[in-house]
Amino acid sequence: MSTSGLELSTLGHRIRHHRLARGLTLDELGATVGVAGSQLSLIENGKREPKLSLLQAIALATDTEVTDLISGEPPNRRAALEIELERAQAGSVFRQLGIAPVRVSKGMSDETIESILGLHRELLRREREAIATPEEARRANTELRIRMRERGNYLPEIERLAEKQLKAAGHTSGALSHRTVSIMAEQLGFELLYVNDLPHSTRSVTDLENGRIYLPPASIPGGHGLRSMALQAMAHRLLGHTPPTDYADFLQQRLEINYYAACCLMPETAAVSFLQQAKKDRNLAVEDFRDAFGVTHEGAGMRMTNLMTEHLGMQLHFLRVDATGAITRVYENDGIPLPMDVTGSIEGQRVCRHFSARQAFTQQNRTTEHHQYVDTPGGTYWSSTQTGSSGEGEFSVTVGVAFDDSRWWRGRETSERAVSHCPDESCCRRPPADATDRWKGRAWPSARVHTHMFSPLPRGAFPGVDDNEVYTFLDRHAGE
Ligand SMILES: [Zn+2]
Repeated sequence: MSTSGLELSTLGHRIRHHRLARGLTLDELGATVGVAGSQLSLIENGKREPKLSLLQAIALATDTEVTDLISGEPPNRRAALEIELERAQAGSVFRQLGIAPVRVSKGMSDETIESILGLHRELLRREREAIATPEEARRANTELRIRMRERGNYLPEIERLAEKQLKAAGHTSGALSHRTVSIMAEQLGFELLYVNDLPHSTRSVTDLENGRIYLPPASIPGGHGLRSMALQAMAHRLLGHTPPTDYADFLQQRLEINYYAACCLMPETAAVSFLQQAKKDRNLAVEDFRDAFGVTHEGAGMRMTNLMTEHLGMQLHFLRVDATGAITRVYENDGIPLPMDVTGSIEGQRVCRHFSARQAFTQQNRTTEHHQYVDTPGGTYWSSTQTGSSGEGEFSVTVGVAFDDSRWWRGRETSERAVSHCPDESCCRRPPADATDRWKGRAWPSARVHTHMFSPLPRGAFPGVDDNEVYTFLDRHAGE
């Protein structure tokens, strides 16, 4: 309903109010002003706009003024309730539900309308709360990181589950092949299918009824990510996931499926023995671990945080940083000082310019890892950083340790050394005084629109997923 529709509704209520105050029926007032009672009824119900001449006649007949009739105020409490209900039922939030609106009758009590309005107000409140999802997401993400830190980023139950599944599929050692991943799926009763039309809001879709896991086409560059996606899809099933109830639940499940996939690609027993040997040889390197298991640098680095505290007694930090220096993925239990917002969230914050994670972007030779020490207010740290690029631009992946543990790593002999005073703003956030003097008031940068880490999610059975798109997709393929 348009604004004028709502004004007409108030006008109608005011006419009815004055008519009833004079004890007139629709037909009686109609006869006086020269229109049929049915016409007057349409006007009183806000369905028709009266001409000014008719308004003048009605004002005269009911002993009031035109200005009073067209006032925006509901004439009485009952009318206010009815107008609010009309407004609520005309709103998009209610109409989305596909529920037929209530038709208010004379016999309906104020209490009934009040109760229905109460439901509408609560519906709107919940809708607004859902829009607040980015904050909820950040909070949930921070809580999850803290919980994982307490557990050394290690989940033994999922480690054991993965080893069992791998053994059953006949995997013995080395990189996990696509073929073995398919066998693992078959053993769960699923067939892996690669399709071009996956819904945009999904990474994979599992058809539980027909035993199929739909994945993006196998030919995309860097297709090794596909093993991970297939394993993640299976993990939902193996871990008995049910549709997530809130964002925290959604993030927990995502962490678990990622963890399961990492366990399959870099199985605990083999990975730990590889890392223990490398430590013994004082030759730990993310790139060696990566190449031994045929995974991404990021996957290898993150996996080291799962296993090295538990099995090698080493604490470490992991950072994925974009070209602007913003942290997109993070884990640390070695105390390296990282930027944090008021909610304790690290993701989206910019890491110190002097850290290896950002210095690596300035290096000429980027085919191998960049090694560097940094002195921070929290002590000295050694880091190894590899840069890369994705569809979203350049990024760097860093794994590092406190100074004492650098002796186990290749690259410890580096002469690269930096000093960081962050979070002191004079370290790298505030421009030098002479630059400020030179440019203040003489430059006008146009800001890039800030893209939030977590935009509001479409709401449905699965947070973040467009159900309609998914079900249409499944319908399309189920008949094949
Ligand atoms: Zn700094």
